[in-house]
Amino acid sequence: MTEPEIKPKPCPICGKPAQPEYRPFCSARCADVDLHRWLGEVYRVETPETPERPDRGDEE
Ligand SMILES: [Zn+2]
Repeated sequence: MTEPEIKPKPCPICGKPAQPEYRPFCSARCADVDLHRWLGEVYRVETPETPERPDRGDEE
């Protein structure tokens, strides 16, 4: 245990460890969600039903 362990920041969307490829998010999906938030627009065309919580789904 001599190597400095770099702890990835948790994804601001779902709280999972961020991936270097999508940081600071854990996946392209979360990055997309955040982008929409920044744009201040909500695309509610995907699921007209009960919205799923982003804290589950991508488990890779
Ligand atoms: Zn995420």
